[in-house]
Amino acid sequence: MRVCCARAWPLADGQKSVFALMVVCDDEYMKRIYTASNLPDAHIVRDLLGQAGIPAHIFNANAIGALGDLPMSAAYPQVWITQLHQAQHALAVIAHYQRQETNTTNKLCAACSETNPGEFEICWNCNAALSKAMLLDKT
Ligand SMILES: [Zn+2]
Repeated sequence: MRVCCARAWPLADGQKSVFALMVVCDDEYMKRIYTASNLPDAHIVRDLLGQAGIPAHIFNANAIGALGDLPMSAAYPQVWITQLHQAQHALAVIAHYQRQETNTTNKLCAACSETNPGEFEICWNCNAALSKAMLLDKT
């Protein structure tokens, strides 16, 4: 295995620190497939990909503490896959996960103020149509 590309960001004191290495050999290529807003989110996506037979790794697991020294986008946990040909499958798994996440958020009916599960499209109480604009914050 041969390291062909290393990205580094300068820190405030001028020292260089390597946060992500891209390792390339004959049939292996790493690709960033997901940028998580937090570490548990990154772990869920990594585990879902693993269950789907897609090997994945988390980078930047601890870089959030360096926020302020790094570009914002570089400081969030990232999920990388090692097999480029699995990228489309991986994106489908992630899209499914994100839909599920949306569906776990409750909706508030504008007509009767009842709370409805996120996957409902019609209020269980008054049959009014529900829209995504009525999504409640997760508690
Ligand atoms: Zn209602």
